Amino acid sequence: MPARTDIPTPLCIAIIGSGLGGLSAAIALRRQNHNVTIFERYDFGGEVGASLSCASNGSKFLQEWDVPIAAAKPVKLKSLIMHEWESGEVQSRYDLGDYKEKFGADYNNFHRIDIHNVLKETALGSKGRGTPCVLKTWHRAVEINEDAGTITFENGATFSADVIIAADGIRSVSRGLLGITPSITPSTSCCYRCIIPASRLQELGLEKFVSSDAIEFWGGYGINKIVMSPCSGNEVVSTYCFYPASFNDLQQDGWNISTTGPDLVKTFPTLDPDVHKMFLHADDIKMWRLYVHEPYPYWFKGKVALLGDAAHPMLPDQSQGACQAMEDAGALGIIFSEQYNDLSIRQRLNLYEMTRKKRASRVQAASAKARTDLSERIGWSSKTDRSGKLTIEEICGYDMHAHVAELVTDLRSA
Ligand SMILES: Cc1cc2nc3c(=O)[nH]c(=O)nc-3n(C[C@H](O)[C@H](O)[C@H](O)COP(=O)(O)OP(=O)(O)OC[C@H]3O[C@@H](n4cnc5c(N)ncnc54)[C@H](O)[C@@H]3O)c2cc1C
Repeated sequence: MPARTDIPTPLCIAIIGSGLGGLSAAIALRRQNHNVTIFERYDFGGEVGASLSCASNGSKFLQEWDVPIAAAKPVKLKSLIMHEWESGEVQSRYDLGDYKEKFGADYNNFHRIDIHNVLKETALGSKGRGTPCVLKTWHRAVEINEDAGTITFENGATFSADVIIAADGIRSVSRGLLGITPSITPSTSCCYRCIIPASRLQELGLEKFVSSDAIEFWGGYGINKIVMSPCSGNEVVSTYCFYPASFNDLQQDGWNISTTGPDLVKTFPTLDPDVHKMFLHADDIKMWRLYVHEPYPYWFKGKVALLGDAAHPMLPDQSQGACQAMEDAGALGIIFSEQYNDLSIRQRLNLYEMTRKKRASRVQAASAKARTDLSERIGWSSKTDRSGKLTIEEICGYDMHAHVAELVTDLRSA
């Protein structure tokens, strides 16, 4: 099909939000030679001290976009380990084996701040394909005209674009501006997160938590679950601790509600004493209220499409929220590449929704199931114990390029 002449190339693309999703989209679209401007309501204080495991379905896109992954000091995960809750004894292990050969990329465990910094530098820096993206901080989007493609900001500025990607997170304002009313229910679970330097663990005689290249679990069958993993080149150990919301009736939202080591110990009184010891010496202990979100009826309207947590907020129990945001960005990069220049912007945004909504909604549902049942989590899940379970093959073995090509063939022949 001949290239259309009514679509400007390169496109002027605006991205609302500079979290992991917005920055990934900026890089993917810059690599296709589009002009990208990112608008952030703050000045980048956003990311927090905690680990982020990035399975091959996210890491593959980081490779494809030439993101210097090593600069984010990942720990390459090799296994998942289950401990007995009280004694800490290892009960079972799932070895990832020849993961990279099988799925095309490592299972990287990042410190969230490290990967955020590397994505930001890649989006804005002069290295690599495409025009460096522009970042405008202190630009909070308050109004969107989806047909005209204009955004109005709280500071009075306005911006017009050919395409707008709304990556403004779990509490997205853009979603509401597009007419979507989210269904949000407080989860029965809350989560603590804490980090501790490897050097402190060594002083405490807990080097077994430092030398690991695994995600380590305690519990997970029921609400209580501890998930520990090393990040930042094994210099930091990060732990997520899930507990019943009724325990302290946390109502506040956000990532920055502080608590203390003794409070963590009190929350899990019968837990492995070595984990208790770690809790009592951990830094930066914060609480998180968790919510259950239902899928939205649509992901795009006019010239505006949702991405990342704005499109598919999910519970953290599949460790897939950011990976799915990277898949969204990957889809935009593929769909807005030259090979699909014959499609209109509307057709392309429709194709984006067709590529992404069903798959991300499935991961969203599987994350809710895995909240209280570890056997639903990829790695521990197996199709043989219940058909229809999400599996590591489905997530990590996915070929998006082929999927998009198939959808485009159908679209062109329709
Ligand atoms: C406990 C926990 C553990 C997790 N672990 C993992 C994991 O191991 N692996 C994984 O893949 N995922 C994980 N996730 C999920 C992952 O953190 C999120 O899915 C991901 O960070 C979402 O990125 P985002 O860019 O969509 O949203 P955000 O990171 O929330 O970014 C949104 C950005 O938009 C900005 N913004 C908001 N409103 C406006 C506005 N009106 N105008 C301009 N800017 C605005 C915000 O300031 C922010 O910078 C975890 C989540 C939780 C809660």
